[in-house]
Amino acid sequence: MSRVNVLGMTFDNYTMAEFVDRLGRRLAKQEGTFIVTANPEIVMYAREHPEYQKLVDEADFVTADGIGVVKGAAMLGTPLKERVTGYDLMEKLLALAATEHYPVYFIGAKPGIADQAAAKARQRFAGLDIVGTHDGYFPLGDAGVTQQMIAAKPALVFAAMGYPRQEEFIAGMRRHLPDALFMGVGGSFDVLSG
Ligand code: UDP
Repeated sequence: MSRVNVLGMTFDNYTMAEFVDRLGRRLAKQEGTFIVTANPEIVMYAREHPEYQKLVDEADFVTADGIGVVKGAAMLGTPLKERVTGYDLMEKLLALAATEHYPVYFIGAKPGIADQAAAKARQRFAGLDIVGTHDGYFPLGDAGVTQQMIAAKPALVFAAMGYPRQEEFIAGMRRHLPDALFMGVGGSFDVLSG
């Protein structure tokens, strides 16, 4: 089964390798992409917040970030192939961006953290081109942030602001960067920067 429903949320049923392959092909074609990595908290939150579920429904891919989702799918008789966490997928996409020379933007976390995360990522992934960073504390829709990001022309945008804010941000920003891949990565910059 290519898509699996768990408590109202529809997950794409790919292994990590299949996912990365699929996303790599979309990046090569500059096909705008929105990825949600949903853990059980996100599934429950979406059930109680239809406006958030609507944002998730607009995403191109929803991955199972959390063993609870994988177990839930198995119990429902529609197993998912593999858990695909946001952090792991971000690392794979950074590696791909480095080899293919795709420009990357980091937005989210407390002031200074995205910069530190970017520095660590550049060390780890030789040739990685991070074209801009911004903290995650600004009013959504802020014109200055929008202009900065448009000017930076990223191919990949990682938004580390936790849910629902990162998905709200992506839903608004996508139309300004229609060719880019967007992904919400929760607390990943805090991890990567440390
Ligand atoms: N954050 C942010 N802007 C906000 C609120 C939170 O950038 O307005 C950041 C926060 O600094 C942290 C991340 O979002 O780096 C949230 O991490 P958390 O682990 O809570 O997110 P989850 O992975 O649970 O979605």
